[in-house]
Amino acid sequence: FDDLTGFVEESSEAETGKHRGCYSKTAAEKAREGREFLPIHGYREELLKLIEENQVLVIVGETGSGKTTQIPQYLQEAGYTKRGKIGCTQPRRVAAMSVASRVAQEVGVKLGHEVGYSIRFEDCTSEKTVIKYMTDGMLLRELLIEPKLDSYSVIIIDEAHERTLSTDILFALVKDVAKVRPDLRLIISSATLEAKKFSEYFDSARIYLIPGRRYPVEKLFRKCPEPDYLETVIRTVVQIHQTEAIGDILVFLTGQEEIETVETNLKRRMMDLGTKGSEIIICPIYSNLPTPLQAKVFEPAPKGTRKVVLATNIAETSLTIDGVKYVIDPGYFKINSYNPRTGMESLLVTPISKASAAQRAGRSGRTGPGKCFRLYNIKDLEPTTIPEIQRANLASVVLTLKSLGIQDVFNFDFMDPPPENALLKALELLYALGALDEIGEITKVGERMVEFPVDPMLSKMIVGSEKYKCSKEIITIAAMLSVGNSVFYRPKNQQVFADKARMDFYEDTKNVGDHIALLRVYNSWKEENYSTQWCCEKFIQSKSMKRARDIRDQLLGLLNKIGVELTSNPNDLDAIKKAILAGFFPHSAKLQKNGSYRRVKEPQTVYVHPNSGLFGASPSKWLVYHELVLTTKEYMRHTTEMKPEWLIEIAPHYYKLKDIEDTRPKKTQRRIEEASTSKVDTNKKTRTSKVDTNK
Ligand code: ADP
Ligand code: MG
Repeated sequence: FDDLTGFVEESSEAETGKHRGCYSKTAAEKAREGREFLPIHGYREELLKLIEENQVLVIVGETGSGKTTQIPQYLQEAGYTKRGKIGCTQPRRVAAMSVASRVAQEVGVKLGHEVGYSIRFEDCTSEKTVIKYMTDGMLLRELLIEPKLDSYSVIIIDEAHERTLSTDILFALVKDVAKVRPDLRLIISSATLEAKKFSEYFDSARIYLIPGRRYPVEKLFRKCPEPDYLETVIRTVVQIHQTEAIGDILVFLTGQEEIETVETNLKRRMMDLGTKGSEIIICPIYSNLPTPLQAKVFEPAPKGTRKVVLATNIAETSLTIDGVKYVIDPGYFKINSYNPRTGMESLLVTPISKASAAQRAGRSGRTGPGKCFRLYNIKDLEPTTIPEIQRANLASVVLTLKSLGIQDVFNFDFMDPPPENALLKALELLYALGALDEIGEITKVGERMVEFPVDPMLSKMIVGSEKYKCSKEIITIAAMLSVGNSVFYRPKNQQVFADKARMDFYEDTKNVGDHIALLRVYNSWKEENYSTQWCCEKFIQSKSMKRARDIRDQLLGLLNKIGVELTSNPNDLDAIKKAILAGFFPHSAKLQKNGSYRRVKEPQTVYVHPNSGLFGASPSKWLVYHELVLTTKEYMRHTTEMKPEWLIEIAPHYYKLKDIEDTRPKKTQRRIEEASTSKVDTNKKTRTSKVDTNK
């Protein structure tokens, strides 16, 4: 393989998948007709029989065999939907949307009618919906309202091998539901051979293997990995394009940023090469990609062109893109990692597991022999990935469990239990937020918080805003925070203008942090009648704004539902900040002499994020931040200035005077002490409260 410099063939452990003969499938064939060409088709009757006879069935099948799109349709055709809906969970939003849209097309109905999907903040279902795809997190929320899932006849936990936090919790909950609902059918569907473990967990449930079609995949890897793997990716794409037979290329990258970088640089490289040779069509796919662009990835490349799909892990098993013949796998993905000691959560770029590597390679051998270019040595990888439950922040899950009446979270029926200190940390946080009482039972505040499909700190901020009479401002801020960091954009050639436009929302920076700037952006947009033109002028992404408006509407509905009065106090910035602190008081940081910050309750140095309006401004002494992101340093994203005495006013059970005292001048200190002693209602002298240690 001289033409692809640097790659050598992997040793003979080459996959020995069965070659099950050729089948022809032209691109012109309608989605509907394509159904009977899927590997699962021949097993339809057997499958239906097994589902009828077994309450719980574990199904394992090659990715792309048709599990996700076909099984719900088979069940509907067999009459299951007369008894109730068919629910099918997916770990990823994009997968839920994309698969639902495909199935609606195959069934021949409008998306959202008989076939629909439900993801956080977006419900595309109706009264008519009988096949419902949803994220695993959404089914978890449905259990809060419908503990026995009465409206369902079948629940499919799909992509079970992904072992997301919500999927793991669902395993235990649906297992219980099945016991009280003998008519309910439960299908656990997985792409890998972890099936035995699933079967054991579900009391020796029957396992059914769907034989797939697989062609041999030639695996090549780099003996000497290069430091800049994105550059290697680009070079490999170009080389494949110039020297290899026709067939699409699938590249696995870790996220939107990498995808955009590769897209830009690859386009440039192709331009530099001139127009000789055929064209390539670049199709990105990641979770924040606008829906119409998501559909593009499934369109076959026009004759004479080659499609290059730049995908996140989503293309590993959740989505199957036909026509891929070459896979380029740098060997990384992003995982959510939580450190229970510091309470720090971060997305880390991590090497994939051997199991993932095999899946990724397999994507190239679906319709004919394929090739996989690995930018790593398979020997360096771990066999499997640690389930998310063992490395995640559990606060949200613990609150959900408590709300479901599960008291003893330590003895919950976990498939793989989380570390005990992660559970403890979650309980502590929920207690500090007032969601649980001393004996760990859910409080009234906790019950209200559960109504909001957001993390506990954010839901506490929303619920807590009632007291500060600014619930309208707070749900706006919450909605803006929920769209992530895609509000402002900085086109490469207009960065100066973009930055200036952004800073207009920060006038009086000392007082206005990122949270309040986001509020101003939203309110100004509203004043401009939600104008797209205005967004353009201000370098704001109108799509994000529309999404924020949708989210805000839903939060508004939920506030009404739990009976929180809608109040507005736009000019009282202190009140708004206090409401933010009501949820985010654990995220406080104090300026240090060298200009960095230090978390008040943790010995951890953190920095203002370069995207923050406070970056480079004269520093505020005390900040509250929304989240920490780890890139080159630990950065606080979305920060706002606050007063330290508020910490004691708002969270006297969490902060003690000694946490905030040392840098305050004596006079202020005394004032704070007086305030705090009256607040916490002790009549003891301040000295005693000083020695009072934190628990
Ligand atoms: P599995 O769940 O077993 O991995 P799927 O049911 O997802 O398999 O996929 C079966 C087939 O449906 C694949 O050939 C795939 O390309 C096709 N498919 C799935 N979703 C879409 C979509 N949104 N657009 C076009 N084709 C799709
Ligand atoms: Mg699937």
